[in-house]
Amino acid sequence: MKIKTDEIMDSGWNFDNTYINLPSKFYSVQDPVPAMSPSHIILNKSLARYLGLNASSLESNQGLKVFAGNSIPDGTVPIAQAYAGHQFGHFTMLGDGRAILLGEHLTPDGEIFDIQLKGAGKTKFSRGGDGRAAIGPMLREYIISEAMHSLGIPTTRSLAVVSTGEKVYRERPLTGAILTRVAKSHIRVGTFQYARVYCDKEDLKALADYSIDRHYPDITNIPNKYLLLLRKVVERQASLISKWQLVGFIHGVMNTDNMTISGETIDYGPCAFMDTYSLSTVFSSIDSQGRYAYGNQPKIGIWNLSRLADALLPLIDDNVERAVELATREVSKFSSIYNDLWEDGMRKKLGLYNKQDSDLDLINELFAIMEAKKADYTNTFRALTLDKFNEMYIFETGEYKEWYDKWIRRLANQDQTLEEAKKLMRDNNPSVIPRNHRVEEALENAERGDLGLVDKLLKVLENPYEYSKDQEEYAKLPPESQVAYKTFCGT
Ligand code: AMP
Ligand code: MG
Repeated sequence: MKIKTDEIMDSGWNFDNTYINLPSKFYSVQDPVPAMSPSHIILNKSLARYLGLNASSLESNQGLKVFAGNSIPDGTVPIAQAYAGHQFGHFTMLGDGRAILLGEHLTPDGEIFDIQLKGAGKTKFSRGGDGRAAIGPMLREYIISEAMHSLGIPTTRSLAVVSTGEKVYRERPLTGAILTRVAKSHIRVGTFQYARVYCDKEDLKALADYSIDRHYPDITNIPNKYLLLLRKVVERQASLISKWQLVGFIHGVMNTDNMTISGETIDYGPCAFMDTYSLSTVFSSIDSQGRYAYGNQPKIGIWNLSRLADALLPLIDDNVERAVELATREVSKFSSIYNDLWEDGMRKKLGLYNKQDSDLDLINELFAIMEAKKADYTNTFRALTLDKFNEMYIFETGEYKEWYDKWIRRLANQDQTLEEAKKLMRDNNPSVIPRNHRVEEALENAERGDLGLVDKLLKVLENPYEYSKDQEEYAKLPPESQVAYKTFCGT
């Protein structure tokens, strides 16, 4: 299965495999299961360029073989990573049951990215699963992750989706597909939980040192760097989740195995963007209790980070009580970091450059009106940005008019002009998001072999703050019949 280096040289792959220097309990060396009859579906050429890869070589048959798991670039040792995690609050052993990490690609600029094939066949961790993925969920991850990137939100990215030429059997037979996922790393809160529960202290330390080296090298030589590791992840996650909240992104399955140490969004399963504003919004069909509802995401962030803190305790202090005290203090910083970032972001969404005590009331009053009048989240801010008040019912209400007068007075209470305020709003309120009905119609066509709408949607989502004419059609709400949208855990 190995191919010669000269055959892949012009693709630009430049692999290393530092993860296999960790104790072997952290992975299982394993080749992808070859796909029967692979074909290209989509390639992210701009990401390929960013990674220093040659797009035309990736589009060739040789490139296809790598994406399909049918040939392994020289210099990689493919592995499935071990991890555990709390799923909906319950602890379980997990691991890559359908993903193979080819290795870490070094870009010409010196950045390092994991290259992972998702849907690459059964592994040691597959349990009852088939190790495969279907075209719909893989393209869904491609579209939403790329949209998140364009919105300026840290995320894993998607380099390619290929068809395996095989069927996968879910409720009905579906086209099998493999997504090539690009990530700063795939180390999860659940990887630390695995180390804490199934490994010894030396292994846990090895994982923590590796994570620091890879993501937070500036703390390598600082005393009690493991406590600082916790601090850094708390900061990154507070920042990440504030960004989710500001655009109305609902992850849908914030299990601890789906929370990264790098601070990137990962695992786009039943995620969706909120339309009608409500803190209780849930789209996922498997989240019947609303554990991962929009308004709960910051709290779940804290819950998950507390599990990371639990896992790190033996490294933080030999005295358990002291370790708990120190770790608790770090996790408790989440709220104030999150609140400050969220409020800053909301001010920008309302065109406010400076900070005043009354701002939070102004923000909350708007949300109360939006919730009561069932206003669309993205389009309310879009309309405020564009002064397009004729488009939405909320703007005709007395409560809104009162709020509007207050907001205009507040805008006058800063040095910047109204024009400058509108510029700030345009830069912080997306004109388009991946609306659920648009994503679904694109995926339905793709399942039938027509990628036209996927390409069009990706193009529209590339510059969400552009406010272009092409985006207008995509900013519209779904027909009434499609409002009760549900997502299904994409396997
Ligand atoms: P996810 O819902 O994608 O976060 O996955 C949760 C766990 O289920 C992980 O351990 C996955 O590797 C595993 N898993 C999901 N789908 C499959 C599949 N089709 N075959 C084997 N394992 C799977
Ligand atoms: Mg997962």
